[in-house]
Amino acid sequence: MNKKIVGFVLIIVLAIAVGLIFKSSQKTVFSFVNNDTNEELDGLIYLDGKYLASTKEGPVKVSNLDGDYPKIVRLVDEKESEPFELRYILNENYSDYSTFFFETRDDEIEAGKRYYKDARNDLFKETKENHWAHMPLTYSYADNCYDEDLYEIKKKVESALDYITQQTSKKITFSYPDSKYSDITFSCKFNDDLIISLVGPNGESAHAIPQIYPETNIYSEGVINVYEKDSCPLGQRQVVIIHEVLHLFGLKHNKEGTAGDIMGSTFSKGNCNKEVSDKDRDYLIGIYSGE
Ligand SMILES: [Zn+2]
Repeated sequence: MNKKIVGFVLIIVLAIAVGLIFKSSQKTVFSFVNNDTNEELDGLIYLDGKYLASTKEGPVKVSNLDGDYPKIVRLVDEKESEPFELRYILNENYSDYSTFFFETRDDEIEAGKRYYKDARNDLFKETKENHWAHMPLTYSYADNCYDEDLYEIKKKVESALDYITQQTSKKITFSYPDSKYSDITFSCKFNDDLIISLVGPNGESAHAIPQIYPETNIYSEGVINVYEKDSCPLGQRQVVIIHEVLHLFGLKHNKEGTAGDIMGSTFSKGNCNKEVSDKDRDYLIGIYSGE
């Protein structure tokens, strides 16, 4: 074969190889799935009234969707070979967007990993009630729990969680995580500001609101803000922390309850003998028995 032609063919082969390598390294980091059409999106969603989204085959025209914008866009991918799933709820006012790029932060990806597991492997899917999908639940402390308080708050939290485990015949269990991401985070708000943080926004000693993954009855990670550090002294039942943790299990205030009910809406200092009611205990055991 003519040397010139061999060289030319080699160059072409090399060019194709380099092109292929370059193309594979250009792999879209995240793939998006449009909930309504089940179509894979490339991560760049155009909401300018012209195109709804772009796929690997090219842009998806709004007209193809009959003007039906998705309310939720699902992102499924893996990081460090662990799959995760994130759901984005899109603002209905699409004219606010020009080009919308889905950014993901590490903590969101960690939450997405938990969601991926929870949604596919819900240990308690028999229940119609809102519930956590796995046991044990992990817990950790926010950065505002400084060294000098950490020892004490840890002891109190451990005692509170142990009470819940005992009361639910060990159906509800907790473990300290091996990463900073966890199901329940305790935030030491009493450190934030000496004057304001003595009590929370509504005069409470602590506060927690349960969160639900969109379109499920599964709880996602929750935060417990502790505003007052000495509601109940160490060694006594930590009724304020127990009360807040139980909020994250969906328990509401028992307004008719006796002063001895841990889910009563008020707490007066020194009243550290409150207990979880039979009704609430049965409710929790029922869900987490998985029957
Ligand atoms: Zn409460």
